[in-house]
This record gives sequence, structure tokens and C-alpha cells, in this order.
Amino acid sequence: MGEISKVIVLGTGVLGSQIAFQTAYSGFEVAVYDITDEILEKAKNTTFPELAKTYLNEVKDADQTKVDATLARISYHSDTATAAADADIAIEAVPEVLKIKQETFGKLDEAAPEHTIFCTNSSTLLPSDIAPASGRPDRFLAMHFANRVWQFNTAEIMGTPQTSPDVFNQVVEFAKQIGMVPIEMHKEKAGYVLNSLLVPFLGAAAELVAGGYTEPKDADEVWRIATGAPLGPFQIYDIIGLNTPYNIMMAGDAEQQKLAEWLKTNYIDKGYLGAASGRGFYDY
Ligand code: NAD
Repeated sequence: MGEISKVIVLGTGVLGSQIAFQTAYSGFEVAVYDITDEILEKAKNTTFPELAKTYLNEVKDADQTKVDATLARISYHSDTATAAADADIAIEAVPEVLKIKQETFGKLDEAAPEHTIFCTNSSTLLPSDIAPASGRPDRFLAMHFANRVWQFNTAEIMGTPQTSPDVFNQVVEFAKQIGMVPIEMHKEKAGYVLNSLLVPFLGAAAELVAGGYTEPKDADEVWRIATGAPLGPFQIYDIIGLNTPYNIMMAGDAEQQKLAEWLKTNYIDKGYLGAASGRGFYDY
């Protein structure tokens, strides 16, 4: 098994740009791919320079020399063939649409060398749904990052029954090399570890308040004091933003959909979308 040194990141949106920057910051050469030169120009001239500023402000060991070297290690491609030519690992962060992911990996398989490992950052799709389109199911798995990768630095790593254990271990090592804490899944599960815990937790909290049993601040307080956790569920809602939990609840059963309606009527429709909008369950 060769060393990983060249990386391709597909998609320069919210997560792709962060993954690419963090990987380049960690010393790897990173080719970023996106569908048009216009999108790549925006990534090069706006998204990555803004990430550089964020690192300078928020990452302890960041300085101008390091972020300049990071930017210099990133190259920009609208053609998968040049982007993937000598890649050791590919990290896909294109839209959360199965067909787009399948097409993207199909094209990548034609362009990339045989040894290239393929990872998807999908939040909700199972890797085994995408793997057949990759043409190399033994070298295909999920590596799932969290938004704000430099701060919330987990990488949930999840293979399919076809994923080679060697490849899985290489990705675990790679995750460490780019500053992530790898969380190894032994088998496939929608939601990985974090969302398998968080989604029911936040749902239970919403049920307590929507059912008139308690108030958000009291639910948060008992959770913080009794468990030692720094944040209660409604503080977490506000950080995530209420639209994502709403969409998740709407995709659930009738009870979940009632909770979604409660969230919409009492908060979302009033513009209380969470911390980023200045008000959610709390004022900011
Ligand atoms: P985004 O919409 O911000 O970015 C998607 C990028 O993919 C865009 O730059 C787009 O131009 C590009 N792209 C490449 N090929 C494309 C094609 N064929 N059609 C359309 N666009 C194409 O999305 P995101 O939030 O960065 O999410 C990307 C992936 O990361 C998703 O699978 C998502 O589930 C996952 N993810 C997102 C978050 C999050 O908080 N946003 C967290 C963890 C995982």
C-alpha cells in the first residue's frame, strides 16, 4: 500500500472547500474539482481566502506563512482527468443527490489511477448505494466530516461489506494526518454515530417543550447540570439552525411531522432560525 500524498476534493461548496483547505493546511497537495471555471474562480478568489482569514482568527497555530503555503498547495480543475491524474485519495463533497454522486464517481473512476481510494462525505446516503458506480467497491467508503472542520474535527469512517480492511485503515491514518479524530464504524448505519445519537436526542427535547411539559431554558439547564454537558438540546438547535432539524422531522413519521409543524409555526415562520439569525430558542 502506497503513501497518500496527492488528494483530490470534488466540490468546492461549504464542506468541500473546508476539507480541501484543511487537507492542504496539513501539508498535502490538493487538486479541487468543480463543474465550471466560474465556480472555481469564486472558490479561488473568495471562498479559500475567506477560509484563510478564519484560520488566522480561529486556529491556534495558524500564521500568514502557513495559510499562504496552504493556498499555494491547492490547484483548480474543471476537468476530472487532470484533477485526478495522480491522486492517491479522492474526497467527494458534491450535492447530496444519489444520481449526482453516482455520475461523479463514474467519471472519476475513468480518470483516476487504479490505486486511488474513493471517499464520500455524504451525510445521509449509505456508501453501499454509491459504491457500485465507483467501479472499485473495494476501494470505496465514507469519510464524513462535520461543518467547521478545523474546530469540530471528527471524521466518521464507514465502509461497505466490500471495502477492503487495508483501505479502511489507510483512510483512518489519513484522517489523523489531516488533524481529524477518526471515528470508526464497524458497519453501515444511516446517520453514522453522531446523528444516530443527536437526532433522537433533539427530537425528545422538542417533544417535551411542544407537549407543554417544560421550557427550553429549563430542559437545557437540567441537561447541563445533571450530565456536565456544556450545552443543552435547545442551545444545540440554535447552533445547527432550525431548518435542518425541520427537514429531518418532516421526513419522519406522523409524530415527527407534528413536531416539525410546531417548530415551523412557533420559530421558523417568525424568522427565529437559530444563532446565525440573531434569535432561535434564545436571543443572540
Ligand atoms: P454545497 O451545495 O455547498 O456544495 C456542493 C458543491 O458541489 C458545489 O460547489 C457544486 O458546484 C459542486 N458540484 C460538483 N459536481 C456537481 C454536479 N454534478 N452538480 C451540481 N453541483 C456539483 O454542499 P455541501 O453542504 O458542501 O455538501 C456537500 C456534501 O457534504 C453533501 O453530501 C453533504 O451531505 C455533505 N455534508 C455537508 C455538511 C454541511 O454541514 N453542509 C456536513 C457534513 C457533510
